[in-house]
Amino acid sequence: MALVNAKEMLTKAKEGHYAVGQFNINNLEWTKAILLTAQELNSPVILGVSEGAGKYMCGYKTVVGMVNGMLEELNITVPVALHLDHGSYEGAKACIEAGFSSIMFDGSHYPIEENVEKTKELVAICNEKGLSIEAEVGSIGGEEDGVIGAGECADPKECKMIADLGVTMLAAGIGNIHGKYPENWQGLNFDVLDAVQQLTGKMPLVLHGGTGIPADMIKKAINLGVSKINVNTECQLAFAAATREYIEAGKDQQGKGFDPRKLLAPGFEAIKATVKEKMELFGSIGKA
Ligand SMILES: [Zn+2]
Repeated sequence: MALVNAKEMLTKAKEGHYAVGQFNINNLEWTKAILLTAQELNSPVILGVSEGAGKYMCGYKTVVGMVNGMLEELNITVPVALHLDHGSYEGAKACIEAGFSSIMFDGSHYPIEENVEKTKELVAICNEKGLSIEAEVGSIGGEEDGVIGAGECADPKECKMIADLGVTMLAAGIGNIHGKYPENWQGLNFDVLDAVQQLTGKMPLVLHGGTGIPADMIKKAINLGVSKINVNTECQLAFAAATREYIEAGKDQQGKGFDPRKLLAPGFEAIKATVKEKMELFGSIGKA
């Protein structure tokens, strides 16, 4: 199945009270692990690509080529969207050109008027080309590709203003943070989430920084209208731990254990297990 935009899968998720996972990719192993898990569990999935990861993978065209090749050669039939994560205005345009099926324009660091202007322009292009588009209001805490947000809560009225521009999905800051959560973290602000959902109605809401949010908070967020949850760090931690274990056990020095196909296998399996665990928690299994 060819890439699809994220609109239909997220509309169904919002109506069905579950969430679709966005799992960020870094290389071939990552992408293959996520696609195979989605297929095995019959779940829709969103592959996230940050600008940094896009650059690492040689550019957006390489990413599109790799993903499209895998969809065909792995016989992936579940809905898959290829989504730019935290895109700049220029990055969003480059991904539209390269063949992504979905973009996020993160204009949260602009004054609201400028965020509105740029979002409007990109919405028009995405509508014309059949892509889905995510906008962000209120910066997400932590660091993502050098952009540091304080974890502020979005103003629900500003969320409504951006939602009304015709975006497909909206990321609202509700105290969530990218990367590992600090010990003194206050938790998600459900009052803000509830207020945002009241004002934005059917708009699928996006929760960034899914790593380390307790399961009960994830479930509550889904009940309050979150239909897309971004997972990045958790797959990285699982991959690193499994690879460390393999090397510390000296397995790379036994027989042909140095073969990259063997060396990277435990990390690959660890990503699959993490993706499965998240899809179970989000409720997307069997919803393709
Ligand atoms: Zn994010």
